[in-house]
Amino acid sequence: MAKPKNIALVAHDNCKKDLVEWVQWNWEILKDHKIVCTGTTGRLVGEALASRMDEDKLEDINITKLKSGPFGGDQQMGAMIAEGKIDILIFFWDPMEPHPHEVDVKALERISVLYNIPVACNRSTADFIISSKLFKTDYEIIATDYSWYTNRKITL
Ligand code: PGA
Repeated sequence: MAKPKNIALVAHDNCKKDLVEWVQWNWEILKDHKIVCTGTTGRLVGEALASRMDEDKLEDINITKLKSGPFGGDQQMGAMIAEGKIDILIFFWDPMEPHPHEVDVKALERISVLYNIPVACNRSTADFIISSKLFKTDYEIIATDYSWYTNRKITL
C-alpha cells in the first residue's frame, strides 16, 4: 500500500464548480490522501467531501486550509512545494479572467515545474493524473540538478 499523497487543490472562482464536481466524483480516492487547499477552495472541497462521506468518517478527512489565494495562499502553497511537502498540484486557473494575484499564480506554476511535480490545470488532466497507475505507487520525483546554478561563481 503506497503512502498517502499530499495533494494540493486550488481553483479560481469561475473554476470552483469544476473542481467541486471533480472532488465529488473522486472522493473515494481522495479521502485516503492529505489535501492542502487555498482558503475558499478548501472550504468548498471540505463540504464536497463531507457531502459524500458518512458522518462518523468525517473526522478522517485530512484537509489543510491555507490563506485565500489573493491573501498569500498561493505563496504558502508554493513554499510547501519548495519544501517537498506537495506531491501533486491540481490548479484550475481561469483562462478568461485576470486576477489581482496574477504574479502569485505565475509563481505557483513556476515552482511546480521547477520541482517537477505533476500539475493539472484542467479537469481532463486531473482525470489522467488520478487514474494513472503511478498514482497508486510511491512514485519518486526525479529532481533536476540545479547545482550549476547554486554553485555558480559570482564575481564581486
Ligand atoms: P481561494 O484562492 O481558494 O481562496 O479562492 C484561490 C486562488 O485564487 O488562487
